[in-house]
Amino acid sequence: MTPNGFHFQHEAAVAQRTERFVEDSPAGPRPRGRTWVDAAKDAVFFAFLYCGYVPLRDAWLSLIGRSRAVVVYYHRVGDCDRLSKPTADFRRDLEHLKRRYECISLAELSRRLHGGKAMRRRSIAVTFDDGYRDNLTQAVSPLLAAGVPATFFVATGFIGTRRPFPHDQRDGARAPRPNLTWPDLALMQTAGFEIGSHTTDHTNLGTADDQTMRQQIGDSLTALNRELGRRPRAFSFPWGQPADVPPDAVAAARDAGYYAVASAFGGANRRGADPFHIRRVDAGNGHLSRLAVRARIAGFDPDYLRLRIKRMLSRRSHRDGK
Ligand SMILES: [Zn+2]
Repeated sequence: MTPNGFHFQHEAAVAQRTERFVEDSPAGPRPRGRTWVDAAKDAVFFAFLYCGYVPLRDAWLSLIGRSRAVVVYYHRVGDCDRLSKPTADFRRDLEHLKRRYECISLAELSRRLHGGKAMRRRSIAVTFDDGYRDNLTQAVSPLLAAGVPATFFVATGFIGTRRPFPHDQRDGARAPRPNLTWPDLALMQTAGFEIGSHTTDHTNLGTADDQTMRQQIGDSLTALNRELGRRPRAFSFPWGQPADVPPDAVAAARDAGYYAVASAFGGANRRGADPFHIRRVDAGNGHLSRLAVRARIAGFDPDYLRLRIKRMLSRRSHRDGK
């Protein structure tokens, strides 16, 4: 067992068995051309990353035992679009994470948050949402090679089917993308990866009625434990923005037996953070530059800033309205 609580079982044998799934990256759309706006954004990200603020801040946070634990999420690997990242870029992300952060599993992060002890090293956990088959064919091999643990959150009603995800239909995907199968997930779990739930039907729990919400949370856990064996499992909210993560659904996930719940709010998790609300940062948008992804992980996340400003303004207007 490694210090971060993660180990690959029968590593060589599993690597060999997963190797046969490795496919060439699908020939998807290539990254669009860069504009001067992209260059200006990169200049800002570069300044943030290399002006000296980040190492100073992290040294201070380490000293007071409140180092940042960042959880990144991806969807697909192989293509290049809003939800897909080219395989070479994914490998580069892993190299960067390994160099700069302690790579831990989500279960280990949850233990640290529950334990409430000082967090001295900045750490990172990798997660995937939905359950696309390229997670096995494109991501597992680089993860194994890098020795980086990961959690795959799958919508169980899509496993072993060609059923398209609602966001792919909305984006006008020409053909349904292959989804993972139960034997794929069993193999990934044997390799040491965590398999968690992302509901059964990729339902937005922010708009679902109470009965549907409880079914989506409970039935997906039952399916995972039935097909893959009973073990501690975490849950991630589809879409995962504030409106999609109602407090009663978080409570329902805790009651159902999940050990942690993850959103997509952005931001970092520190000592004292709620283990039943683990924040995650989007690192899987293939259109983001390398500097943009690194800046997001280091704490300069425009999506998260927008969210905080919106919350601040709504609190203020609420107060003024009274
Ligand atoms: Zn999703």
